[in-house]
Amino acid sequence: MKKIAFFCIPAHGHHNPMLPVAAELIKRGNQVRFYSFGEFKDKIEATGAQFISCDKYLPELTAEEEAALKSVTISQMAIQDIRITINMNDFLEQEFKTFKPDVVYTDSACFWGKLNAWKFDVPMVVSTSTFAFNQLSSKYMKNSPKELSDMIFGLPKISKEMKTLEPYGYPKKGALELVQSDNNTDSVVYTSRKFQPFSESFSDHYAFVGPSVFSKEMPHKDKERPLVYISMGTVINDRPDFYNKCIDALKSLNVDVIISCGKEMDIDKLGALPENVKVYPYVNQLEVLAKADAFITHCGMNSVSESLYMATPLVLYPQTAEQFAVARSAEENGAGVMLKDDSVEGIKKAVQEVLNNSSYVKAAQEFCDDFRSCSGTAGAAEFIENAPHKSEGVDIIKKFNSTNGIFQLIYWLIASTLILLFGFFITWNYAWIVGLVAGIFNYKVQTATEKFRYKKVVEKYAKK
Ligand code: UDP
Repeated sequence: MKKIAFFCIPAHGHHNPMLPVAAELIKRGNQVRFYSFGEFKDKIEATGAQFISCDKYLPELTAEEEAALKSVTISQMAIQDIRITINMNDFLEQEFKTFKPDVVYTDSACFWGKLNAWKFDVPMVVSTSTFAFNQLSSKYMKNSPKELSDMIFGLPKISKEMKTLEPYGYPKKGALELVQSDNNTDSVVYTSRKFQPFSESFSDHYAFVGPSVFSKEMPHKDKERPLVYISMGTVINDRPDFYNKCIDALKSLNVDVIISCGKEMDIDKLGALPENVKVYPYVNQLEVLAKADAFITHCGMNSVSESLYMATPLVLYPQTAEQFAVARSAEENGAGVMLKDDSVEGIKKAVQEVLNNSSYVKAAQEFCDDFRSCSGTAGAAEFIENAPHKSEGVDIIKKFNSTNGIFQLIYWLIASTLILLFGFFITWNYAWIVGLVAGIFNYKVQTATEKFRYKKVVEKYAKK
């Protein structure tokens, strides 16, 4: 029997996969204390865990500040988390001294969980509710210019804020160690290795336990005509413009359409609906997906996982950087098409492609089998019970990074030869232009050859 301390930020998407893991650990005879917030109390207590409220350590927000949270940047969020950690310091110090946890299970974005596990030297396992993001897989995200500038200018700000932790006895760590997945930290990821981009670059410290989907129902697609399901998730779903285009695109096709438009939107904004279209504020998504033949989705990790779990191919319409990463993995694995043109005609074409080309169904079916064969909550619980883990394999990231050195050497040898040839045979006056062009294209060529170099490293070192 182990004493396990759970920590999570106040967000449903981050709590949801941790709850069944808490229930499983308790079923196996462990004691779980879950440090969380009032709105999750009932759900946490339903697992059998002891709920410990951390509400009073959160800053009090006005309704406007609460609304502004939707557009907060990663660095602003990180700085806020560090301040909350300091607010909680005395309380958590007391808790760690009295509860004496054997293992900390903390959400990846919950800094007070991570920092206190380090401070009190307790084995830590990180719960990752999206893909695991390292230097390679994070390139799957399509960041906006605002997000890119936040990454460049935000990291030094986070590092500066982290200095305020030192007087409280927290160990010195870099901002990246706090924010990113690394190959020495035990982590549970709620997807399969097959769906995780660059999965071989994650060491044995990672347990890919499969998506947190709980349904015994199997896909059953037999019916008179195909069913197309549309949802933009639960966060930014007030999109009557987009739903209207979908309706226009699909009304003349021989399909049934179900739209889940969210609880905020006035359904009347969609006008009179054609006979083949039904719109609801909320549906039992798993039930609908079990029957659906195509899903137009905003590419939230849960929606895409549920769709593939139910062998439903996807029309991918990502809205955020993280959703873009999910969409890209689904597309590369052949389970969906990216909706690049979101006009009425573009939507119609994408849906027809998914419905008429059986390769998408086949790829989705493969994921259905793959996800259902993952170790699930039992695997997560076992991994947490047995932490800390050892990694025996080669660190693929380190090996890959050493290929970058060789790449740069070869690249600049070729570039220097070109400069010399240009100088000798054409003119020395403009040879610097060749050097400049080589400098500009260096990053592009490096990125373009990345997958190839990664594949070679994996072929050489990854465990068979
Ligand atoms: N969901 C649902 N019914 C709906 C719409 C959404 O049950 O009508 C659920 C869906 O099954 C999924 C979650 O809400 O589990 C949405 O999560 P996701 O990560 O896809 O997107 P988010 O809402 O976080 O953007």
